[in-house]
Amino acid sequence: MTRRILRQPADLIAAGLADENRRADFDAVAQRYSIAITPAMADLIDPTDPHDPIALQFIPDAQELIETPGETADPIGDATHSPVEGIVHRYPDRALLKIVHACPVYCRFCFRRETVGPGSEFLTGEKLEAAFDYIARTPQLWEIIITGGDPFILAPRRLQDITERLAAIDHVKIIRWHSRVPLVEPERITDEFVAALSTSTKAVWISIHTNHAREFSHEGRAAIAKLSRAGFPLIGQTVLLRGINDDVATLDTLFRTMVENRIKPYYLHQGDYAPGTAHRRTTLAEGQALMRNLRGKLSGIAQPTYILDIPGGAGKVPVGPPYLDESHVEDPNGTRHPYPPQGEH
Ligand SMILES: *Cc1c(COP(=O)(O)O)cnc(C)c1O
Ligand code: SF4
Repeated sequence: MTRRILRQPADLIAAGLADENRRADFDAVAQRYSIAITPAMADLIDPTDPHDPIALQFIPDAQELIETPGETADPIGDATHSPVEGIVHRYPDRALLKIVHACPVYCRFCFRRETVGPGSEFLTGEKLEAAFDYIARTPQLWEIIITGGDPFILAPRRLQDITERLAAIDHVKIIRWHSRVPLVEPERITDEFVAALSTSTKAVWISIHTNHAREFSHEGRAAIAKLSRAGFPLIGQTVLLRGINDDVATLDTLFRTMVENRIKPYYLHQGDYAPGTAHRRTTLAEGQALMRNLRGKLSGIAQPTYILDIPGGAGKVPVGPPYLDESHVEDPNGTRHPYPPQGEH
């Protein structure tokens, strides 16, 4: 068992997770993008399976160096809505607070791949004060979404400090954390960690990023149970990924596994136009077909909304599939019915 985070192509090869023959590819990708695989995720990889859904999410691939039309460093236009460093304020009632640039794992399809990575890691000092100041003087901010990077890599003491600072702002009613940590590095979810997030009477929601049921190790499930028992509502975010989770059976199992672990599937994200991610992006029609298939056979509480973040920063919208036109509605089996119903006189 590997016990430290693997960050170099040589580490991946030494751990038996990647093939020496692909060394040149790994080195080329490592020049451009960050790499990290936690022990919990490394333990789940079956190196003999070329389609292993954990490996495909975290082991670099030469296809990441192929950029296609439309791909940009800032696919969802964070920069166009950033009034001060670390804040992205696109919608009236809520804003992102990007507190840290680093993550415990680096997803090969990350939509912020040009900005995440080790290095200038934390929003601290004057920059952090300026971000808090913006939140404090913007009374329409009802909710603060803390993201990054992955904010759950911070020490409990810092999480507590952030929670208390935000909770002290009267108009901030909701504190929402976005993280992959509960599944990819479950050992971080200690009692001290949970206590740090619990120091406020404001509602604290946690959104857990997960793309495959295989990520739910015994330790990951225990970490999630701990968060759930502490009273945090848990919602789940999934990225639709070609070759990793873009089939009905895989999504059905994933969404059920989330609900079994008390996570409400919230969004299924259409892949953003981040550089070098075309090989993982599905079409919208493919995503709609998957959603259509799940509707009717999968419990309503296990159904996420299929979401597109409009390139450039115009916001997130549900992208179907549509069930209605002017005169008909389609049922879950694909049969069309007149609507409004035809009265008989
Ligand atoms: C995604 C996002 C949010 C959160 O959107 P919800 O639909 O509330 O989950 C908020 N602000 C920005 C800038 C975002 O990109
Ligand atoms: S955890 Fe999130 S921010 Fe970090 S690499 Fe993965 S997708 Fe990107």
